[in-house]
Amino acid sequence: MPILALADQIRERTARVREEISRAAKRAGRDEKGVRLVVVTKTHPPESLLAAIEAGTRRLGENYAEEAVAKMQALQARQSLPGDLEWHMIGHVQSRKADLVAQNFSVLHSLDSLKLASRLNRFASEQGRVLPVLLEVNVGGEQSKFGYPASTPVNVVNLAREVEQILQFSALKICGLMTMPPFFEDGEPARPYFRALRTLRDDLSRRFPVIAWDELSMGTSADFAVAVEEGATLVRVGTAIMGPRPARGEPA
Ligand SMILES: *Cc1c(COP(=O)(O)O)cnc(C)c1O
Repeated sequence: MPILALADQIRERTARVREEISRAAKRAGRDEKGVRLVVVTKTHPPESLLAAIEAGTRRLGENYAEEAVAKMQALQARQSLPGDLEWHMIGHVQSRKADLVAQNFSVLHSLDSLKLASRLNRFASEQGRVLPVLLEVNVGGEQSKFGYPASTPVNVVNLAREVEQILQFSALKICGLMTMPPFFEDGEPARPYFRALRTLRDDLSRRFPVIAWDELSMGTSADFAVAVEEGATLVRVGTAIMGPRPARGEPA
């Protein structure tokens, strides 16, 4: 597809998603400015990312560190990118990829272990930067999902211990929580999981008042409106804006 046609399509879908965010914020009595859209571009080629940027997107969400860094380099080589463009790492990060994340991303949504935190801290301090991080929580308790379990009081105590340790890492800044609930076709069944994440955030902010637990990263194409009603500050929308994803590793 010619890049301008693609940009038009992405622009139109972005407008629709923004409109829906705005309506959901209104229903919940929230200021829509408190909700930031992350457009998830994993497995999409650089042309499609350019189209999204063309359409006004300033936050790109990526899942695979190497793929993302390759796309960053491809885009930078081709043209100057907007100065306020942010790259958000939203996927599980293996500890050995910590350097790529610490060097190249604006924020990590998916911090899920002390080992990863420790390595990120080392590489971020080598870069002389502080990396904002969100802790990923597996609110649904699914075996297949990453993130800290939090469905029992013991889980929460363990998570709090982990937070205490992460607080010692001066090159990391905890900003909030992220979750990926079980998949449903429709948003409503995801609501209790979003609510659980918010409740956990409120609990942690009583335990750790030194941390500004501002961010709740929750909601994808299927359920972002419900997530906004439940307090999301970052929604991660892929398919509803970018269209279907090319399979990983295949040419687009
Ligand atoms: C892929 C992905 C998304 C986007 O999902 P869509 O259904 O395409 O909107 C959001 N969050 C994470 C963690 C993802 O991996």
